[in-house]
Amino acid sequence: MVFAFSLARRRWCVLVVLAAGALAHAGADGKLPALRELPKEVPYVLRTVYLEDPRLPTWDFAQRSLLYARLEALLAQWFGYTVKITETGRHDLATYFARHGPVFRRHAEMIAKVRIDIDQPGGMERTRQAISMDFRRRELAQIDGYLRLGGARTHTEAVEAAAAQFERNFAEIRQIRVGDGDTFWSPVRPELNSYPHWCALQYDTTEADFILTNTMIVGPDAEMPIYVISRGGITLGNTNNNPHTAFQGTTVVGLFPFLSDAPYFLRERGRIPEAERMEAVAMLCLHELGHLLVRCAEYYDHPHCVHVAPVRLEVLSWYRALKQRGPCRLPHQKVSSFSSAEANRPPRQLLGSVLCARPF
Ligand SMILES: [Zn+2]
Ligand SMILES: [Zn+2]
Repeated sequence: MVFAFSLARRRWCVLVVLAAGALAHAGADGKLPALRELPKEVPYVLRTVYLEDPRLPTWDFAQRSLLYARLEALLAQWFGYTVKITETGRHDLATYFARHGPVFRRHAEMIAKVRIDIDQPGGMERTRQAISMDFRRRELAQIDGYLRLGGARTHTEAVEAAAAQFERNFAEIRQIRVGDGDTFWSPVRPELNSYPHWCALQYDTTEADFILTNTMIVGPDAEMPIYVISRGGITLGNTNNNPHTAFQGTTVVGLFPFLSDAPYFLRERGRIPEAERMEAVAMLCLHELGHLLVRCAEYYDHPHCVHVAPVRLEVLSWYRALKQRGPCRLPHQKVSSFSSAEANRPPRQLLGSVLCARPF
C-alpha cells in the first residue's frame, strides 16, 4: 500500500494501483522529485526502527533479527537486491508519537483532510463516501471478490453493504482485548493507529527507511482502497514518500494482524502455524519493499504475484500461493512517486515497465 501521502494505495488503471497497505501522500511540500531507479549492482542498508506497544504481543530482538535475515534473503532471491537490514532503535510507541507532535502539527492540514473519525457526526457518511470513491472505479465482480457481499446488483447496493460490513468489522477490531484487559483501540490515543498520522511520520522521519511495529494501522480514511475496506480498515503495510531518506520513501509494516489470535483474526485469517508465521510476515514485508526498492506499482489481478496485496486478511493462503508458485513472471510497472495523486495520473507518468521478479 502507498499513501496520497502514501504510495501503495492508489489505482490509476484497472490493473495498476500503488499500495499493499497504502501508497503515499505528496506531503506538506507538495512537489517532490521523481523516484530514482535503485541500481542492483550496489548494496543497500535499510535503517530500521521498531516501535513497540507494550500491551500487545511482540517479537524480541532475536526474533526480529530472524525476520530481517529472512527478508534479506527474499530481497536477493526475488528482486536481486543486496540489502542489510540494520535495526537502529527500539522505542515505546506512545512515547515516540508524543515526541513527534511537531510532525503531526506540520501535516495537520493533510491529516484533517484524510482522517475520518467514525464516531463524530457525519463520520459514517464520510466512510461511505470513501468506499463509494473507491468502488466507482471498479467492476462489481472485483468488488465482490474482496467484499463477498452476496451478489450486489448495483454499485449503490455494493457501497451500502460494504459500509455496513465495514462498520461491524471496525467495531469488533476496536474491542479486541489486549494484554492488560484493555481494548486494542485507545479512545485517548487514536493517532497511534491513524493512517494519516503514520503517513506524516513516514514522510518526515530522518532516521528510518523501514519501520516495524507490533501494532497496526486501522480505521476509515478518505483514501482507503478496496483491500483495506475489506479488512475493516486494516492497513497491513504502507510506503510513503520521504524527501529525507536515500530511498526517497519510508515503509511501515504492522505485526498485530499476524501476532494476535483474537477471534476476529481467527475468523478472517485462520490460525497461522508457528512454522509459517514469520515466513508470512517476511512475504508481506517483501510486498511493501517491492514498492520502496523496486518502485513497483500495486497490482490486483496477477496470479501468485507478490505485488498483489492479500485479499481481506487471507495472509496465510496468500503466502502459501507465493511460496509454491511465485515469483510472478509478468511485467510490472514502476511508479515515479509513492503518492496517490501521482498514482492516479496516466501511465505515461511511470518510469517504465520492468520485470520485478527473478527466477531463483
Ligand atoms: Zn502494495
Ligand atoms: Zn505480477
